[in-house]
Amino acid sequence: FVGIAEQAEADLRELLAVPASYKVLFLQGGATAQFAAIPYNLAGPGAVADYVNTGAWSKKAIAEAKRYCKVNVAADAGGKYCTVPARDTWQLTPSAAYVHYTPNETIGGVEFPFIPDVGDVPLVADFSSTILSRPLDVSRFGVIYAGAQKNIGPAGLVVVIVREDLLGRARPETPTVFDWKAMAADGSMLNTPATYSWYVAGAVFQWIKRQGGLAAMERLNRAKAEKLYAAIDGSGFYQNPVTKDCRSWMNVPFTLPSDALDKPFLEGAKAAGLVSLAGHRSVGGMRASIYNAMPMAGVEALVEFMVEFQRTRG
Ligand code: PMP
Repeated sequence: FVGIAEQAEADLRELLAVPASYKVLFLQGGATAQFAAIPYNLAGPGAVADYVNTGAWSKKAIAEAKRYCKVNVAADAGGKYCTVPARDTWQLTPSAAYVHYTPNETIGGVEFPFIPDVGDVPLVADFSSTILSRPLDVSRFGVIYAGAQKNIGPAGLVVVIVREDLLGRARPETPTVFDWKAMAADGSMLNTPATYSWYVAGAVFQWIKRQGGLAAMERLNRAKAEKLYAAIDGSGFYQNPVTKDCRSWMNVPFTLPSDALDKPFLEGAKAAGLVSLAGHRSVGGMRASIYNAMPMAGVEALVEFMVEFQRTRG
C-alpha cells in the first residue's frame, strides 16, 4: 500500500505542479472535518479568521469555524448568493490568522473568476467541487483542501495541500488526527488511512494524466460548460441566475418557467437516461453537475433533451 500511496501523491503533485514546499495529505472526515481542522491548525487563542461568504458551503465553513475562533465575515455576496463580491469590497483583518473562501459553491453554481490577493495572510480555499478541473497556481495558497468525492472520485477521503511553514501552529488541544503537522510527519498514516479511497484516487490521477493532464481537462470542462450555458441562455425558457463571469464550470443550476414543469422534466430526463438533475433541496429547480467524469456526450444528450422538452412543453 505504501507504494500505491506514494504513487498517488506523486501523480497529484505532477498534475497540480505542487511546489516542493507544500505537504500533500490524504485524510479522512471529508471537507467538513477540515472546516474544524483549519481553525485548530491555524488560529491560536484570540485569533481572528476572515471568511468570504458566497453561499451554502461558505456558510457551513463559517458556522464551524465560529465554534473555535473569532470569525470576521470580510465579504458577503448576500441576496440569493448568485455572485462573487469584488475583491476591493472585502473588509479584511490585517492581523487575520487566515482568509478562507470557497472557490466553487457546489449548490449555488458560483465560481470565483479570480484568486484573491490577500497579501501575506495565508489564503485557505475549499476546492472540493472544482479541484483538478483545470490547472491551478498552488503557490498562491496557504492551504487547499478538497473532499475527494467529486473530481477525485471516491468518498471517504479529503486531500489537504498545505504550505510547510504553516505546520506547527496547531493549538495544543488539537485532536491528533486533525493535526496537519502530525499527519505530515507520518505520511498521512498516523492511524489507518482510507486505503481503498486513496487507491481509487490514485487511479483517477492516472486517468487524468492519460487524458492529457489539467490543460486537457480545462479544454473539455470549458467546452462542456459553454455548451450548457449557451443552451440555457439561448432558450428563452430555461434560466440560470448566476452573474455571467461567476458561473461554475462544474455545477450548473437552472430553472424552468414554472415549478410545475420540474416533475415532468425530471421524469422525461430519467426516461432519456439523464439522472441526478434535481436541484439541491434548498434551491429547487435543476442542477447539472458536470464534473471531470462527465463526457461531452453527456452534456450533448442533456442539451438535446432540454430542446425537445421545450418544444413539446414550452
Ligand atoms: N465544501 C464543498 C464546496 C462541498 O461541495 C462539500 C460537499 N458537497 C463539502 C464542503 C462537504 O464535504 P464532505 O461531505 O466531504 O464533508
